[in-house]
Amino acid sequence: MTTSISTRIHNFAAGPAVLPVSVLEQIQRDLLALPGVGMSILEISHRSKTFEAILAKADADIRALAGIPPNYKVLFLQGGASTQFSMVPMNILAPGATADYIDSGSWAEKAAKEAKKVGNVSIVASTKGDNYARIPRQSELKLTRGAAYVHMTSNNTIEGTEFKELPEVGDAPLVNDTSSDMFSRPIDIAKHALVYAGAQKNMGPAGVTIVIIREDLLQRSQKTLPTMLNYAVHAENNSLYNTPPVFSIYAVGLVMQWLRDQGGLAAIARVNERKAAALYAEIDRTGFYRGTAQKDSRSLMNVTFRLATEELESKFVKEATAAGLDGLKGHRAVGGMRASIYNAFPEAGVGALVSFMQEFERKNG
Ligand SMILES: *Cc1c(COP(=O)(O)O)cnc(C)c1O
Repeated sequence: MTTSISTRIHNFAAGPAVLPVSVLEQIQRDLLALPGVGMSILEISHRSKTFEAILAKADADIRALAGIPPNYKVLFLQGGASTQFSMVPMNILAPGATADYIDSGSWAEKAAKEAKKVGNVSIVASTKGDNYARIPRQSELKLTRGAAYVHMTSNNTIEGTEFKELPEVGDAPLVNDTSSDMFSRPIDIAKHALVYAGAQKNMGPAGVTIVIIREDLLQRSQKTLPTMLNYAVHAENNSLYNTPPVFSIYAVGLVMQWLRDQGGLAAIARVNERKAAALYAEIDRTGFYRGTAQKDSRSLMNVTFRLATEELESKFVKEATAAGLDGLKGHRAVGGMRASIYNAFPEAGVGALVSFMQEFERKNG
């Protein structure tokens, strides 16, 4: 039996997450042999002309989508965003210097924890005392003069909060973990020194991590670093120092082309705002559901909400799954429910969840 669109359910998973159907169809169509190549993307050399072209197009499309200035390099690395938690301080935190970390969620906390193994870290603001239900305010940031960099997490995947604008950090290089909101809205790369994201939430399948780095930062990478953890080595070798994740890069390239076809980041942001607004409106409609993020910090990508009791929450998740709405169980750190509605998540799926929520409230309210 061949699979088809009709066998797909609504996938609210936080990551790996839903991909555009047209991208999956193209992968399926071309998997046995890339057009004109006669070999699968799973079989070709990373040094082949074919792959060189695929890599160059992915790079060019990422640059075009985000308006990346010419003095930035785009790197395609492995090890996930979690490896960046270590690579960032290993490369750009000099001995004796201090790195500032904004502790806005569980992933931000993990990033700081790894950096502390490498050098001096200052937590310049934390909303942990509020269960990470909000984004720290600008006035709360106790920035270090002359900091090596300031690290932030633009979207807190687990808690469902998101920076609405970038913090002001003066002259310090801004480093941003954008794993769960990269390319969900326009991004001002020029205000950053380094941006990184694991692909598996909003950009493609697992296996590749995108790093966008300003070229002057590459001078900080010491030759004594392990070669594979050295940004300068990957930049000099155009992400081909060793075998890169060929298939993942190919799939990310297809997703980038899809994004361009949707009209780019401003266009997809309008759709994302519409989807999130519909879901938050339902959460706020009566007191039956309770959003866990403070209103001014709500994420457009990960919508977290709870019910009156854990029993009711288990029932909700179980019945939703049976109704073809999968992946709604919240992270154990927050509990309740989390609907991840990334770029590729269809508006019709949000509509289906809203209808399910209304029906569930009618029966259990
Ligand atoms: C998922 C996630 C990570 C971890 O990503 P891996 O690729 O699994 O290492 C880090 N930061 C954020 C914000 C995430 O959402």
